Amino acid sequence: MKEYLKNDSEHINHILDLIKAQGVEYLTTLSERPTSVNNNPVSDKIELPESGFGAEETLRIFNQRFEPIMVGSSGPRYLGFVTGGTTPASIAGDWLATIYDQNTQSTTGQGDISANIEIETINILLDLLGLPKSFLGGFVTGATMSNFTCMAVARQWLGKEQGRDIAKDGISQTIKVLTGTPHSSSIKSLSLLGIGSSNIIKVKTAGEDREAISIQDLEEQITKLNGEPFLLISSGGTVNTVDFDDFKEISRLKEKYKFWWHIDAAFGGFAACSDQYKHLVSGWENADSITVDCHKWLNVPYESAVFLVKEQYKILQVETFQNSNAPYLGDPLENFGYLNFLPENSRRLKALPAWFSLMAYGRKGYQEIIDRNISLAKQFGQMLAETNDFKLLAPVRLNTVCFTLKDEAQQDKVHGFLETLNGTGKVFMTPTFYHQQKGIRAAFVNWQTTEKDIELIFEVMKRIAAEFV
Ligand SMILES: *Cc1c(COP(=O)(O)O)cnc(C)c1O
Repeated sequence: MKEYLKNDSEHINHILDLIKAQGVEYLTTLSERPTSVNNNPVSDKIELPESGFGAEETLRIFNQRFEPIMVGSSGPRYLGFVTGGTTPASIAGDWLATIYDQNTQSTTGQGDISANIEIETINILLDLLGLPKSFLGGFVTGATMSNFTCMAVARQWLGKEQGRDIAKDGISQTIKVLTGTPHSSSIKSLSLLGIGSSNIIKVKTAGEDREAISIQDLEEQITKLNGEPFLLISSGGTVNTVDFDDFKEISRLKEKYKFWWHIDAAFGGFAACSDQYKHLVSGWENADSITVDCHKWLNVPYESAVFLVKEQYKILQVETFQNSNAPYLGDPLENFGYLNFLPENSRRLKALPAWFSLMAYGRKGYQEIIDRNISLAKQFGQMLAETNDFKLLAPVRLNTVCFTLKDEAQQDKVHGFLETLNGTGKVFMTPTFYHQQKGIRAAFVNWQTTEKDIELIFEVMKRIAAEFV
């Protein structure tokens, strides 16, 4: 084993050349790579090798065992979930994050101070999103962890409002959470935080065909709480129909009532990049905390998301996440360390791919990606609506098309249709359920998707629909 390690280290140039060639091969043929695998070729089990194989032979084993199950999920026709691609610059940044392998914690002092890169990345991301610098942000693995982080600070805030220190003493009273159409990960976060997912008070939506909250019902629910502080989880883009809560109206309520306002803007926040759609997030700067995913519409590799919490809550944030053997005296920003501001202790330099991509393509580059994705979604929605086979379940508000088979009598065929469609490996979409109907969702957040792709997808869909009807 020692031999191999020494040998590999002497031949690092050769190893990286092999990886580079393989990476280039993947990226340049990505559009043809199947978006799903229909059978798993990995059946035999292997055991830990006694003396190892060295990196080159291990690559060969990987290529034999696992490379065939790598789907084109970063490619242009992977429209399932909300799956972003990877820009060239973000791949460069990601590779370098691995090479440099910093343990990103602090901005000053001796040893690693790579958190300066993270702080700078947050600042230019705030610029991109048109948000003020009054937010303190950091990178976590995904929007789920971001929602968790934000809600953890919210929990501490609520306790303090009631004269309790929940981080120290735990939860002893029910915490009220108001929300309309939250993402499942917010519910999960409430469970993790001991707030309890069944303590949610559901606010009515703004109408039959809406997922955004009704401001009137929100205010009525607030009034019923008689001044008791609560958490509001609002949506900056619901996953099914990309509906946005009215942030201007919520800002107005925030002046009247006492609550922590969190916005889950995992992908919808990028509407801020579009001149035509930025009104959707107007007023979001007044929120106490915001979740934004980077591995979705920013098109950087997994795992990347940011939490944005107003800096004025830095003490509450430290009370929540302080590592117990790192006592803070005075201003936590003076001796800043990320490990006291978020769930993880050791952490990768997650900001670097985002920093590279933001620097490489700038405001205009992202504006172009966002606008093009939105226009493709609208176009695709229009194409489906004009057929006899499909119907939209909701208007295409931004970048997601939520649809089903047109004929109501075919509801039981929706699943089979989707399975056949995904089985072609040409496109990937996800099942959903909306307005009591089985549906299908296609989300456009990949920088590589073009009009040719939606035409190809449309052709495949029509062919399958013809077989199904
Ligand atoms: C994707 C998504 C999440 C969860 O994000 P992960 O990055 O998968 O953890 C949360 N909220 C919304 C609105 C999302 O779209």
